[in-house]
Amino acid sequence: MGVPATSPKPRFRVAICGAGIAGLALATVLGKYEQKDSPLEVTIYERQPEMAVFGAGISVWQRTWRVMQLLGIDDQLARASERPPVKAIGPGFVYRRADRTNDTYNYYTVMLPYGSSTMHRADLVQVLLQNVPQSYSIRMGKRLVSYTEVVDGYGDTKYYELQFTDGTTAEADVVIGADGIKSAVRMSMYDAAHRQDCAAEVDRGHCPRCSAATPKWTGIITYRALIPTEKLRAIDPEHQGFRYTLCRRQHVVSYPVSHGGFINWIGFKTRPEMEGTIYEGKSAEEAPKEEIWSSSTAGRKRVHSQCVEKPTRWVINMISGLPFSVRGRAALLGDAVHAMETHLGAGAGQSIEDAYILGRLLAHPLTTLDRVHDVLRIYQSVRLSFANTIFERARETGRMCEFNWPGQYDGNECLDEREQLEQLGKSIYRNWQWQWRESFDEQWDVAEWAIEQFLHVDAQKVQAE
Ligand SMILES: Cc1cc2nc3c(=O)[nH]c(=O)nc-3n(C[C@H](O)[C@H](O)[C@H](O)COP(=O)(O)OP(=O)(O)OC[C@H]3O[C@@H](n4cnc5c(N)ncnc54)[C@H](O)[C@@H]3O)c2cc1C
Repeated sequence: MGVPATSPKPRFRVAICGAGIAGLALATVLGKYEQKDSPLEVTIYERQPEMAVFGAGISVWQRTWRVMQLLGIDDQLARASERPPVKAIGPGFVYRRADRTNDTYNYYTVMLPYGSSTMHRADLVQVLLQNVPQSYSIRMGKRLVSYTEVVDGYGDTKYYELQFTDGTTAEADVVIGADGIKSAVRMSMYDAAHRQDCAAEVDRGHCPRCSAATPKWTGIITYRALIPTEKLRAIDPEHQGFRYTLCRRQHVVSYPVSHGGFINWIGFKTRPEMEGTIYEGKSAEEAPKEEIWSSSTAGRKRVHSQCVEKPTRWVINMISGLPFSVRGRAALLGDAVHAMETHLGAGAGQSIEDAYILGRLLAHPLTTLDRVHDVLRIYQSVRLSFANTIFERARETGRMCEFNWPGQYDGNECLDEREQLEQLGKSIYRNWQWQWRESFDEQWDVAEWAIEQFLHVDAQKVQAE
């Protein structure tokens, strides 16, 4: 590992903090697009002592699939996937009402072009890991505490120093925070920005701009379990696997993983009045299974009590409305910037989109160390507001799934209940459509246009002088 002595001199040194989906995707993109005669020196620092993946299933949509095609790793992903995307339009998943004892029914079937591919999270991570170049270092057991800017006599950035919990330090020219919702890179970036830009008498946690860097609770708790498919079908033969079961302030999402052997089951309970508060307990732990079915309605109790074994409880926190994702030669991506509610199955996809745009910009032939700052600003302008929009759409979708969105069906009995539910189904469907209607390629086109306009013009000016 590391750049061999005979290699060309690296253009600059990149430190990626976090070897999750975002960090590994970024390393894969850098490896594919870096200039072979002027490579980058890339080191990934991961806090875990060995690669371990928490969580079970993940859905991957057409836009994310497109990124995989651009990277040339879609075939590898298809082999790991439960259902690779198909071109034909077909039933994706059904919305079902199940909060009444004797009146449980499907009320909307979502038709999807390309479908959604579901896979085990570990398989996605494995595919990305296999595509990280051998020349890049992955340093396990390195938990970042903070980073600091080291400046020269003119106040310009010389390099960054990274500090780890084991007392060691490392240097880098560019720092990337792919370290998830509790990102140490984000905290360092915002602490420094607050010290430099904001009123001294207001602490960062209360600053109107910088307090967005602190994760907040969405008000949602999820319970997750893997159910053997045979066990579920024995109780509920009609269960097709991919289903949304909706109730007031609760809903359940289930879909097949592990080549149909298991159903990934996620139960949501929401306390909307707690949104934006700080959750004081553990963010993930085992939960007694009675905790799930104590609040299940009769229509679902049988399934839950007989099928769900060893559930885990997850607190869904968020990073919402971050005003900037880059500062100097440091940048954030993935959950470090936009940890979102899970209702559009979009967090990992958005992390991979970030990684593609950021990676291709950093690896671009026009990107030199002294222009990294401008390149990162292009990344921010292309990605930050888009991901924040998806964040809002996911939030709205979750409220609609729990009959809690203004102007939509509110869960009360009424004569035109079925019509209202159908309208609700259509509204939820509209919130998904960006996954296949809005082109990811256009985002890269904008980023490429920007780098060529700004840096090419700039390079010409330097030559002329
Ligand atoms: C219940 C649930 C279901 C979901 N379903 C979907 C889905 O179907 N589709 C989808 O697209 N998304 C889904 N998501 C969202 C998705 O899981 C996340 O958006 C995605 O994992 C973010 O990737 P990341 O690499 O940014 O962060 P993470 O996955 O959190 O990875 C961060 C990495 O950084 C490391 N790290 C953390 N701190 C440090 C430090 N200080 N120093 C060094 N390393 C550090 C961590 O160990 C980890 O390896 C779901 C999320 C949840 C909770």
